[in-house]
Amino acid sequence: MTRAPTTARSLADLVEAGTLPRTALADPALAQVALDYAIAVTPDVLDLIEGTPADDPIARQFIPTAQEATTTPEERDDPIGDHAYAPVKGIVHRYPDRVLLKPLHTCPVYCRFCFRREQVGPGGAALNEAEFEAALAYIAARPQIWEVIITGGDPFMLSPRRIARIVEALDAIAHVAVIRFHTRVPVVDPARVDTAVVDALKARRAAVYVGVHCNHARELTPAARACLARLADAGIVLLSQSVLLRGVNDSVEALEALFRALVAARVRPYYLHHPDLARGTSHFRLPIDEGQALMRALRGRLSGLCQPTYVLDIPGGHGKSPIGPSYVSDADSDGRRAVTDFRGERHDYPDG
Ligand SMILES: *Cc1c(COP(=O)(O)O)cnc(C)c1O
Ligand code: SF4
Repeated sequence: MTRAPTTARSLADLVEAGTLPRTALADPALAQVALDYAIAVTPDVLDLIEGTPADDPIARQFIPTAQEATTTPEERDDPIGDHAYAPVKGIVHRYPDRVLLKPLHTCPVYCRFCFRREQVGPGGAALNEAEFEAALAYIAARPQIWEVIITGGDPFMLSPRRIARIVEALDAIAHVAVIRFHTRVPVVDPARVDTAVVDALKARRAAVYVGVHCNHARELTPAARACLARLADAGIVLLSQSVLLRGVNDSVEALEALFRALVAARVRPYYLHHPDLARGTSHFRLPIDEGQALMRALRGRLSGLCQPTYVLDIPGGHGKSPIGPSYVSDADSDGRRAVTDFRGERHDYPDG
């Protein structure tokens, strides 16, 4: 496929780019999906697409389908309950020692399974100067805030000048030890992370981490790996967040390839998220049993560096909990436990 020069932002653009058949334009369900949820597919992602959402793990993440028109009763507008913990605009404060700072609502791509799909989109306004100052004042006034996680939207969509302003402002708050960015840009628009962006991310004092959202090994193209190398070479610690998705990475082989490719690119797998109850995403969800079986199959077979924590963001704003398989039984009346090894064999452990 020849490289499209710009991001596809409509069904018509996707037809033009050859990723949707022309008949898609006559599908009323798909037309409704395009009205309800933002569309954006970058040229780098268009280049990677090799099939349809039914058979290609890249297309499935970014190309809208009529399946999104189906919502189930348990799905919600705010699946992880951010609204309940937003004390000032742009801040979510759920855990005592850390806050989310959301300076904007736009993303380089709009993932079809997005947990914030009702909040993100091209229309959403960024924080203005007064709102940004108010968010900083909230952080500065609370010494228990040890870490600030900058998310959105995608903060790497900001100009290098604005990224530098955020890093400098947080670096100036003595109790903020860690500044963590969450972004999908290194895999979907890697050229955007140029020298100016890398320089903007350097703090004088605080540790800077970047969490990269990546769900399939094929997303780690040579350009994406070069982008990650620029960040790692600048002393930035790289983590990954992946979402476990039906039809994208719900096999041992796909997860193994993904985690190995991340670690080889100097990115430490951090979380494997169970998919959230966002509207119109039931075709991406799988049972927790299946996620646990996948995690069990990876244990031992892959280096410990390649093992993220499997987590669920509990609906209603209760935060994330690890939901991976357990390898230790409850203690019996003599205090003995059974511990399961990576082959599935149980071993007695005299526990005190
Ligand atoms: C996910 C999340 C965090 C970060 O949690 P970690 O487990 O530290 O990665 C912080 N605040 C909120 C509101 C979150 O949803
Ligand atoms: S990059 Fe993240 S916030 Fe943006 S659409 Fe994808 S999942 Fe949602």
